[in-house]
Amino acid sequence: MISTATRAMRREGFTPAQRDNILDGCCHYCGTAFPSEVDHVIPWSRGGSDDLENLVAACYRCNRDKSDLTPEEWAAARAGRGAAWPPPTREAILLDLTAGLVDDADAVHAAVSDETLLDSLVSYVDQVHRHGEDRDRHAAMLAMIHAAGGASK
Ligand SMILES: [Zn+2]
Repeated sequence: MISTATRAMRREGFTPAQRDNILDGCCHYCGTAFPSEVDHVIPWSRGGSDDLENLVAACYRCNRDKSDLTPEEWAAARAGRGAAWPPPTREAILLDLTAGLVDDADAVHAAVSDETLLDSLVSYVDQVHRHGEDRDRHAAMLAMIHAAGGASK
């Protein structure tokens, strides 16, 4: 979890540049671009070390879903509930959420009614948009997600 990893980095004296290095790339687990968190592969609470070899970039969803499981336990837990392995990227989830729903903001809202998930989706689309990938498509998605989120307020 991020707070533990952040504490670990303070203990280890990591610089912001070193932290950026860990976060420079994709989620270690699902491949989502622009991951925002650092995860202990073997959880810190389970004796995992603060060594760089045990720290990887992770997206919000993977970090929450993995929680304090080892990768093996996490894969088994996902298999047990019929969830995909490896986990889908945020973009895949977003595309699933929006496929065929572009005229149905209520359905999008129902699918992303969790505000934290909504925030992470909006943030992700915004990041992709700013990085210039398929600007029109992502701008349309962002507008739609904002509209869906706004409907709940
Ligand atoms: Zn991930």
